[in-house]
Amino acid sequence: MTRFFPLVLAGAASLGLVAVLAADDHPLPPGWSWEQLMHSAAARQRGLSNDAPPEARQNLARLVTTVLDPLQRALAKPVVVTSGYRSPVVNSALGREPTSLHVTGEAVDFFVRGASPEEVAAAVLRLRLPFHELIWYAPGRGNHVHVALRAAGDQARRVRYAPERGGLVAALPSEVRHG
Ligand SMILES: [Zn+2]
Repeated sequence: MTRFFPLVLAGAASLGLVAVLAADDHPLPPGWSWEQLMHSAAARQRGLSNDAPPEARQNLARLVTTVLDPLQRALAKPVVVTSGYRSPVVNSALGREPTSLHVTGEAVDFFVRGASPEEVAAAVLRLRLPFHELIWYAPGRGNHVHVALRAAGDQARRVRYAPERGGLVAALPSEVRHG
């Protein structure tokens, strides 16, 4: 919710527009919430705000609508976001690169309950979902999937794997490699 929400709500209630305005400027598909996309344990521990500005919300809404929600529906398994938006301060507190696309709401880390990160990456490719970068992580590296979708410009469609030993390697999920 925006910080203006109570005021908007009060005004809208008298006009009978609550349902429309409560849907937010950048609506998320049913079942999705800004809380899950902006949750940050690191921010909470440090008392930092992790509230996404409108541009980042627009990017996150696009990512959910065009990638995460279609993926969840196709797999019929829940997508669980582990790290979505990171404010610049939170991102730097975590020691991440300032160029991280999480800072602009153009990247989300997640896992799918009942599917390995490699299976999830394969599904993203099989379903021809849009992305700029897709990385699947080994169990010891977080066991999650990172997907980035640029707000503008070309999507590089770069696929990489984060192995246990560290670093990132160009790789396709075995399911895709072997057809
Ligand atoms: Zn990430």
